[in-house]
Amino acid sequence: MAVDSFPAKARKISANIGAHYVDKARKLPWRSPPGSNLPDPYHVWLSEVMLQQTTVGAVKSYFEKFTRRWPTVQELARADEADVMAAWAGLGYYARARNLRKCAVHVTDILDGRFPQKESELLQLPGVGAYTAAAIAAIAFGERAVVVDANIERLVSRLFAIDTPLPRGKAEIRAAMDRITPKHGAGDFAQACMDIGATICTSKNPKCEICPVQEQCAAHALGNMEFFPVKPPKKTKPVRRARFFWVEQQGRILLATRPPKGMLGGMRALPDDGWAAGNDGHAKPPMAGKWQVHDNIVQHSFTHFSLEVDLAVYQDEKIATNKDDNIWWALDQIAEAGLPTLYAKAVRWKLKEKK
Ligand code: SF4
Repeated sequence: MAVDSFPAKARKISANIGAHYVDKARKLPWRSPPGSNLPDPYHVWLSEVMLQQTTVGAVKSYFEKFTRRWPTVQELARADEADVMAAWAGLGYYARARNLRKCAVHVTDILDGRFPQKESELLQLPGVGAYTAAAIAAIAFGERAVVVDANIERLVSRLFAIDTPLPRGKAEIRAAMDRITPKHGAGDFAQACMDIGATICTSKNPKCEICPVQEQCAAHALGNMEFFPVKPPKKTKPVRRARFFWVEQQGRILLATRPPKGMLGGMRALPDDGWAAGNDGHAKPPMAGKWQVHDNIVQHSFTHFSLEVDLAVYQDEKIATNKDDNIWWALDQIAEAGLPTLYAKAVRWKLKEKK
């Protein structure tokens, strides 16, 4: 079904969503209240990078931790990369953390500590894609930019019953969002749409009875809300295998720093078999000796594949390892090592097994 083209409907949607936000805006640590001064661009940028592929609930504590430790973009630019990676641990999609620091350095060194204001200029920053550039331009600088995240995609596809399957349908959804985005207050409007998408127009069981745009909603009129947005057929993810190595000595375990490039690059982790490069979990252990292998102790899902992890535990008493990149880490302080979630899961499995 084509997006209908009645400007009156667009105006009504825009007005109802705007009015709803005045009363019902979610209070989030990176936001300014509706209609007040524009928020700090550093906060908007940081939160938007964290929110890519991650829920608001998971991001809040990380945002607070980062802004406490690095209150300005200049301070983040001067931070040690390993510290930033460790502080990011658990949030996933670690390329974002590397780009975060790169972008902070760029803004500090090249742009004199000031974020550019225009969507087109923001797009040039490391790690800033189309969505993030539009969100920062609208929310932090009041530019009329068209912001479409997953919540807005769902809301708008339902409002206009856009049935072109994703990702082809994205262009139609964006065009519809363009038509309902007001000239002024595009930032508040985008955040209002995000809120409605996250809390009312949810994937399952949308709460149409309390929705401020129920009367204008084409999907509601059709009685087929969950049909939209139309998803492409699901592909099954390939499964890879990995093997992690557990070497323990006097209450400490052996960790290694992952290579700087590639998945989870530069992060501390258990030694492994190089699974990220496509190995099948059977590479040589970091030292000769007796190993006991526990199969498939952890399953983890990445965007393009799933990973099943075996844990090989070193059984000999004597440990012969002198490699420079070895780190012995006290097990009772393992929470401070900043291990990525995948490795933290394996550590938790092993510690539970010991009890
Ligand atoms: Fe979503 Fe229902 Fe509101 Fe339509 S009426 S926008 S389906 S919550």
